[in-house]
Amino acid sequence: MVRRHKYIIYFVFALTALAIGVSAVSRLFIKADLPFDYGSSRHESFVESDFADFSKGDQIIAVDGIPVESAYEIELIIDNKLPGDIIPVSLADQSSGTKTLQATLVNYYDDNLFIIVTAITGFAFWILGVFVIGSKPNDRAAVLLFLTLVTFSVAILSTSGYYGRGNDWIGYVDRISHVLSYLWGSIFFLSFMMNFPYKAHEKARLPTYMMYIVFSAISIFSSYACYVTLRDLNTPWHEVNEIIWKICEMVLFASLITGTLILIIKYLKITDAETKRKIEWIFWGMALGVGPFIIFWLVPNIFELKYIIREEFILTFLLVVPVSFAIAVVKYHVLDIEVIIKRSLVYFALVGILIFIYFEVIYISSNYFEKHLGYESKVFYILAAILIALLLNPLRLKIKSFVDKVFYREKYAFDKAIQKVTSATKECHTYEEIGKTLLEEINLLIPVKSLAIVSKTLTGDRIRILSQNNFDLLQKNIGAFRVKNLLSRVDLPFSLSQKVEPGILFNNKLEAILKRWQIALIIPLSFDSSETVGAIVMGDKLSGMRYSQSDLQLLNTIASSAALAIKRMELQEKLFMEEIELEKANELSELKSYFVASVSHDLKTPLSAIKIFSELLQNENITKEKSREYLSIIEGETERLKRMIDNVLNFSKIEKGLKQFNFSKLNLNEATNVVMERMNYELNMQKFKIDKSISSEPIYINGDPDAITSILENLISNSIKYSEKNKYLRVSTKRLNGNAEVIIEDAGRGISESNLRNIFDPFYREVSAEKSSVKGAGLGLAIVKNIVDAHSGNIEVQSEIGHGSKFHIIFPEYKNGNNNTDN
Ligand code: ADP
Repeated sequence: MVRRHKYIIYFVFALTALAIGVSAVSRLFIKADLPFDYGSSRHESFVESDFADFSKGDQIIAVDGIPVESAYEIELIIDNKLPGDIIPVSLADQSSGTKTLQATLVNYYDDNLFIIVTAITGFAFWILGVFVIGSKPNDRAAVLLFLTLVTFSVAILSTSGYYGRGNDWIGYVDRISHVLSYLWGSIFFLSFMMNFPYKAHEKARLPTYMMYIVFSAISIFSSYACYVTLRDLNTPWHEVNEIIWKICEMVLFASLITGTLILIIKYLKITDAETKRKIEWIFWGMALGVGPFIIFWLVPNIFELKYIIREEFILTFLLVVPVSFAIAVVKYHVLDIEVIIKRSLVYFALVGILIFIYFEVIYISSNYFEKHLGYESKVFYILAAILIALLLNPLRLKIKSFVDKVFYREKYAFDKAIQKVTSATKECHTYEEIGKTLLEEINLLIPVKSLAIVSKTLTGDRIRILSQNNFDLLQKNIGAFRVKNLLSRVDLPFSLSQKVEPGILFNNKLEAILKRWQIALIIPLSFDSSETVGAIVMGDKLSGMRYSQSDLQLLNTIASSAALAIKRMELQEKLFMEEIELEKANELSELKSYFVASVSHDLKTPLSAIKIFSELLQNENITKEKSREYLSIIEGETERLKRMIDNVLNFSKIEKGLKQFNFSKLNLNEATNVVMERMNYELNMQKFKIDKSISSEPIYINGDPDAITSILENLISNSIKYSEKNKYLRVSTKRLNGNAEVIIEDAGRGISESNLRNIFDPFYREVSAEKSSVKGAGLGLAIVKNIVDAHSGNIEVQSEIGHGSKFHIIFPEYKNGNNNTDN
């Protein structure tokens, strides 16, 4: 009930103020003036420009038969007349004594610029006042700001215009309101400054109440003085009235200065950066808007000085006040106004201003046309009415969307943003795309200093960054973060109390991390409190404001569609991985069966040779020579057989991770010689030209003798296998910069450059090898590489198709205590 009463009071107050303002402004159009300039000083008024037979400096003694002493009095008398009226003006000049002239009054404002500026400025104050109260009717500071702004709007709009005599109550009310609005505007302003952004000290209460009482008394008295003066111009009360007016100006001056000082003192005392920023806007509004008003208008008025700049420009400066207040209110939620709900007021206000400007333009242009071209003005009004009817609605809609976009971007964008984010994330095919899309969208909606989109890694327990902006600190430390840290109740972000607006629930579990990594907010991307697929990590907002409820609503909604998108990606990836795994398994089983076939084929050749030659050996008539030859064949084939079986066994051990090496001090030269001897049979059979260059001094390495033998055998046997025409083999060993080097070089078919990368892969065989009659399982080089690695060595190949291949192997030389590997 009480609340409703309050609303009604505010409503009536605002409407009354508006009515007074409109009526006063309309009276400015018919404000009259003497046809010459005049001014006053110390109880005397003077003519200030030559006119007819008046000359500059003549003293004005009476206007319309009423004796006058000041310019203020003259204006009061003339405001009672209309332009075009003819009134007697009496002058005293030094030479000819008193003379009287019939002066035809002219328009006070010869162009309407001043009236327009007055109207715009005054209505801007009024609109802002209404907006403030509509937004926060129960806030003390908001109520005081409303009263201040609306009262000042009356002060601006009710600038003295025409008033009639006798029954022109409205004219009287306008005039009295002008005086009262100066007084009450000042006191409301001071009270507002005391209550914003926090309440002044309790001690200030009593002086405030006293001030209200004194001002009420002054108001009653000055209203009476004003009324009596207007009713009967020729009365001593006019002097009282003039004094009161001076007092009003001084009160305003004093209150503006004091209020600004209070604000500055509060500003200096406040340590909270956010509140400071709120005050800054108000302060700049005061400094830029009220400063010039004081300097160029109030001070010259009070001290009876000449104006330095034209009135309308001074008023324009005042416009800065409501504009900067509006920015402070909307941008920084000064007074914690719930802008989103109350935005209709802003549309309303803007539409109001628009209609007003519209009327003004039509009024001025019709006046202009009438004056200069002699057109009938009614035509314009009819045209204007049609135009308004046609344009108003589309214009209103334009304004609505403009206001939504500019002032309520968050709300405006909410529905659209959700749609956009959902459809954009659906289009994404990779995690990175999801990250980039989310980053862009969120940054558009809530501009932030830093932002990152993270998701859990494929292994599932860690976090990786999908995309980030200015979050290098997070990028560096992300490895330390676990997915399980992000588990939280759905819709409950991780944050710090100073980063979100009061009253917002949040999880403070990650406080230390958030502070350390300069994170303001983490919104987990989750479906329930047990599963999280990632998070939106936000730094401070660019505006420096805390995160609001609407920010969080927006982010939560985005988070749920982001969570879905990432989950979808995860499932896709899993499916894809399974497919690859399946493919791999198939390939492997194919390879294995191929391997079995090829190995058994390879095994067959030496076996059948052994069988044939042992049978031949059983023949009793065989010569000794022959039998030696056969035996060496059998031995050679057995070697080959052993090598093949070794390879298969070695590989299966390597594959299972069971391969072990027995390192010992090994002379590489000796090992090479032994292998060469073992391979001698095969090399001779193939009629190889052998070039052996073994270092004369021993070269020691820390090696496993069997493994090193296996390397050399595999490489030499490859040279034998892959040299069909040019059968040449060069084997050399040497020391090289503290390393031991073995080179196996042939002049065989060579390996194409594109295949060089793959030849060390298990089961890899070149297509040409595959097609030729040369058999193999593709295991030899894989085993070689494995052994070289285990010996901390390095293997490199140089090869050219048709010209042969050169394998370099380098091992670290043996040093005392050199224990290169232990596996
Ligand atoms: P395999 O000899 O059983 O096919 P490897 O692993 O020993 O398997 O060799 C892999 C492939 O590398 C061979 O199939 C062959 O194409 C190529 N290759 C290896 N050594 C030589 C060489 N000395 N000259 C030409 N090609 C070679």
